[in-house]
Amino acid sequence: MNGAFHYRDGVLHCENADLLEVAEKAGTPCYVYSSAALMGAWREFEEGLGGLPHLVCFAVKANGNLALLRLLARAGAGFDIVSGGELFRVLRAGADPAKVVFSGVGKTRAEIEAALEAGIHSFNCESEPELHLLSDLAVRTGRRARAAIRVNPDVDAATHPYISTGLQRHKFGIAMEEAEALYERAATLPGIALEGASCHIGSQLLDIAPLLEAAERMAALVRRLRAKGIPIRFLDLGGGLGVPYRKEDPKPDVRGYLAAVRRLAAELEVELLLEPGRYIAGPAGALLARVLYRKRSGGKEFLIVDASMTELIRPALYEAHHEMLPLRQSARGRITADIVGPVCESSDFLAEEREIENLLPGDYLAVMTAGAYGFVMASNYNARPRPCEVLVEGSAWRVVRRRETYEDLIRGEEP
Ligand SMILES: *Cc1c(COP(=O)(O)O)cnc(C)c1O
Repeated sequence: MNGAFHYRDGVLHCENADLLEVAEKAGTPCYVYSSAALMGAWREFEEGLGGLPHLVCFAVKANGNLALLRLLARAGAGFDIVSGGELFRVLRAGADPAKVVFSGVGKTRAEIEAALEAGIHSFNCESEPELHLLSDLAVRTGRRARAAIRVNPDVDAATHPYISTGLQRHKFGIAMEEAEALYERAATLPGIALEGASCHIGSQLLDIAPLLEAAERMAALVRRLRAKGIPIRFLDLGGGLGVPYRKEDPKPDVRGYLAAVRRLAAELEVELLLEPGRYIAGPAGALLARVLYRKRSGGKEFLIVDASMTELIRPALYEAHHEMLPLRQSARGRITADIVGPVCESSDFLAEEREIENLLPGDYLAVMTAGAYGFVMASNYNARPRPCEVLVEGSAWRVVRRRETYEDLIRGEEP
């Protein structure tokens, strides 16, 4: 359990909001976010980097809800986007375009044009043809785009293979050995100011050692580039700090990480950019679900709930673990069960062989640490409307995205 979610009189609360009341009024499945947890995690970064020229860019792909983005934007956050759609979202949320960085291996012409038009901070470019396209488009509109090359520091993030990105064989970035030559070629492109270096080695890192190793390698690259006359002014070290999904998981040493990278940045006299996503949004959210049925089959106990892989795909996709808490504590003892959804896939489980409260049909539970890579990966598979999202601020709560309707499911279709 984390700070924002706690029991009061046997009922799970988010800040001061009674989650049984939220589940009953807003319906389930339903995502609930704590504004205090979100902003508290954000402030850890801000405070750790205070006094240093820096930009903490929340990775929008972790959670793109406008209400959350607006809270962050008002606090002065930057944003890391990976698509034109995310650019649209952050602008709608009131973000300062000068604090937006654009990452991603496959930016389209239209996406680059929209970001140039908005006047974003910089582009993290991942290939030589992308640098050429960016330069051409900038020249055509009389602009000079600030750019960084995303370099692959070849550090093993020691995380799940699907969310590890910093090894030679991954599609992301440019290999470290090839980076300098590419910087030299691209530095002469007329439409770009090649002033940055960036990396992002993977996600859900609980140990900061690989992040620090990558930061050291990037700092060495900055020194080599400067020696060649390429004036690097900003260093973007990406995101990747993990969150404890299990009670026994350690919390990453964020303070230690920030202290080390701020020292590096101060020595290099660069503006430091970070792109945390999961660390900021993950612990701030929970997915509420209701038990539909209990059954025993093949010697196993199943809790069939109204949330599924279409709301939270992480268990199905990454075999991810999420703690499950009853919304109302009972004295009925505990059971071991598979907690599964209604979707027609064997991978549609939220937990397997999990020891949990003895929940009965009609009871509610919360799937914890679901604020990042939760709703954003929700789908309409099995024609399931996507769930609603609720934001809690103190004892107040409001629906910040209504539940989709059946009409939403067919919008745009031409029978
Ligand atoms: C996904 C991603 C992030 C955020 O990663 P987290 O693990 O959520 O912090 C940051 N930067 C880039 C380029 C990404 O692709």
